[in-house]
Amino acid sequence: MTTLYIVATPIGNLEDVSLRVLRILKEVDMIVCEDTRVTKKLLERYDIKTPTLSYFQHSGAAKTEQIIELLESGKNLAYVSDAGTPGISDPGGKLVEAVVERFGNEVKIVSVPGPCALIAALSISGFPADEFLFLGFPPHKKGRQTFFRNLAEEAKKRIVVFYESPHRILKAFEEVKNFAPDANLVVCRELTKKFETTYRGNPEKVIESLKTDKILGEFVIVVKGFVQKSKPQAQDF
Ligand code: SAM
Repeated sequence: MTTLYIVATPIGNLEDVSLRVLRILKEVDMIVCEDTRVTKKLLERYDIKTPTLSYFQHSGAAKTEQIIELLESGKNLAYVSDAGTPGISDPGGKLVEAVVERFGNEVKIVSVPGPCALIAALSISGFPADEFLFLGFPPHKKGRQTFFRNLAEEAKKRIVVFYESPHRILKAFEEVKNFAPDANLVVCRELTKKFETTYRGNPEKVIESLKTDKILGEFVIVVKGFVQKSKPQAQDF
């Protein structure tokens, strides 16, 4: 059966790639990428010569049709986004939706899991992540205040995670401070990369630390707005 593999790729460190990812990227007929220049770095590193085709957020219907035709002609494809797990705040979801709509179960869609920035951040947060809410990117303008008001409410009940670009990161912390001044934040910058940094504290403390550093790179923000109940102590018998 023709297969579309949805393949997770590193979020920075090119060593964070599985043997299965490398094999599938070598075996498929074509790799569909969010940005061919970004994916090229990974392919060159592992000497993968498979042809590539770009498919990004604003690719129109003609591009989707081109991919559909490739699948129709029996080509096996892999889709990779610029970093991490496709479909998590990137165009991967749009492609899967179009393929499911056109082919139903006639094309097999296979997940090849791997890195994901929000999961990496949660795993080092030290917060209980049995239950969490991921909100993606805040809106730039309209709806931004509502986003942070809602975030503060949600964070009283469960861990909340969101992404923000470096241009708006300080503004985001001011907004968190406004609606949830006592929240505990874990801010992960440049996960798996050379300048990986984790900031921990309330919004005010995080703002102070960030201002003294250069605000560059990529960020995941984890918010805990409730007081953690301590686990009952084991009884000594
Ligand atoms: N699909 C990706 C994933 O699995 O995490 C996310 C894609 S989204 C377009 C890009 C955002 O993810 C960045 O703006 C940043 O918020 C977050 N991100 C990606 N790589 C990161 C890294 N190495 N360190 C921190 N945040 C990262």
